[in-house]
Amino acid sequence: MITLKEALTLSKEELDKFKDDLKAKIEANPELNAYIDINSVGDGVPIAIKDNIQVKDWSVTSGSKILQGYIAPYNATVINKLTEAGLSPFGRVNMDEFAMGSTTESSFYGKTLNPINPERVPGGSSGGSAAAVGAGLAIAALGSDTGGSIRQPAAFCGIVGMKPTYGRVSRYGLGAYASSLDQIGPMTQNVEDAAILYDIISGSDAKDSTNALKDDKVTPSLNPKRKLTIATLPKYLENASQDIKTAYAKAIDALKAQGHTIVEKEMLDAKFDISAYYITATAEATTNLARYDGVRYGNRVEGKNLEDTFVQTRSEGFGDEVKRRILLGNFVLSSGYYEAYYVKAQKTRHIIKDEYAKIFEDVDLILSPVAPTVAPKFGELASPMEMYLSDIYTISVNLAGLPALSLPIMKNAEGMPVGLQLIAAAYDEQTLFDGSLSLEAAVGYKA
Ligand code: GLN
Repeated sequence: MITLKEALTLSKEELDKFKDDLKAKIEANPELNAYIDINSVGDGVPIAIKDNIQVKDWSVTSGSKILQGYIAPYNATVINKLTEAGLSPFGRVNMDEFAMGSTTESSFYGKTLNPINPERVPGGSSGGSAAAVGAGLAIAALGSDTGGSIRQPAAFCGIVGMKPTYGRVSRYGLGAYASSLDQIGPMTQNVEDAAILYDIISGSDAKDSTNALKDDKVTPSLNPKRKLTIATLPKYLENASQDIKTAYAKAIDALKAQGHTIVEKEMLDAKFDISAYYITATAEATTNLARYDGVRYGNRVEGKNLEDTFVQTRSEGFGDEVKRRILLGNFVLSSGYYEAYYVKAQKTRHIIKDEYAKIFEDVDLILSPVAPTVAPKFGELASPMEMYLSDIYTISVNLAGLPALSLPIMKNAEGMPVGLQLIAAAYDEQTLFDGSLSLEAAVGYKA
C-alpha cells in the first residue's frame, strides 16, 4: 500500500484509478469486516473514517443500533480540515458501540477480524480503522481514543496510532463517549504519515470550547536525530506478558543505540488508573448518552406513552456493554455514592496528572507498554472486568490529557505484532514524533 506521503503527490487521474482498485480490494475481503460501507466523496486522497465522526450527508452510527438511519447534518471539523488539505473521507469503519470496548466485538455490525490472524481480535474500539490500515485496505484512517482506542488496536494490528494532547484536535462532530477524555487521532502505516495527518487535523476551532488554540505544525520540522532523555517504567512492566517484556528490552537497546539517554522512573500502581478511568468514563458516558431518547436522533420504538417510548427505544437500541456502562455511570453519580466514587476518581486523576508532570521535569519521553499482551483470541477475555483490566497501560494518558504514539516493535513467535508507546508532555507533539521516528528507524519493523 502506498503511504499517505506518496498518495499526496498523485494526480487526480491516478487517485481515481487508485480508489477504484481500493474499492474492488475491499469488496473482495468482506470477511475482515473493517468497513461498514464505502462512501467516497470528494476527489482527494481516500481516508477511512471511524463511524463516530460525522461526514455531512453520510450515515453515522457510532456502531450502534440506536443510531440506524441517522444522517449527519454537518461535517466534523476534522473532516473539513481533511478536505481543505486534499484528502477525502472514504468509507466508514467499524468500532465498538459508542467506542466502549477493547476488541470491536460490541459493534451492531458484528466483529472485525485481526488482519494478521483472523482468530484474534483487532483491538478496540477503533478496530475497523486499525484492521483497514493493517490489511492494506486503507492508506490511513481516523480513530478516536478515550482510554486507548487508537493506540491499542494499532499495536494489535501492527500499525502506528497516535493520540494527540487533549484539546489539540477539535471534537466538534465526534460522537461523545467521555468528553473530558476523547480525542480524534491518526492511524497510519508509519510515523511520518501520522505526523502529516496530525498536522492536517489539529489546530484551533472556535466550535470546540475545550480546544487548546495552538496551531504549531510538526511535519516540516521533524528531527529524528535529536538526542532525548527517555524514561522507562520497570515496575510497571510486571503486569505484562513475556512478549511485551522482550519488545520493551529491544526498544531500550534500540533507543540507546540511537544515542538517547535512558533513565528509570516509577509510577503509582496502575490499578488505580483503572478505577479512576472507569468511574470517570462511565459517569460522562451516562450523561452523553441521555440524548438518545428516540425523539431527536435515529431509531425509535413507539411506546404506550412518552416515558415508555424512551424506555423501549433505549432497551432495544443499546447493546449490553453500553447498558452496563450507563448503569455504572448512574451509580457512581448517584447521591450517596457521588463523593465515594466520582469525587475520589477526580482526585486520583489529579494525582496521576501530577505524577506525569513530575517525571517530565526530568525526561522528554516515557516508554510504556500499550497492552499487557499481543492481540488476544476471540473469547479469551472472558468477562467485562478482564477486558477493563487490559486497558491498564493506556488510560492514564487520557486521564492526564497527554499525547502518546503506539508503534510496532517486533513480531512474537506466532507472528503477532508487539507494539509499545512513547508518551510526551502535554503539547509536546514535536518531541513525541521526533523520538518515535528515531525508535521506528532503529527497530526496523517489517509488516
Ligand atoms: N477500552 C476503553 C473503554 O472501553 C477505551 C475505549 C476508547 O478509548 N474509546 O472505555
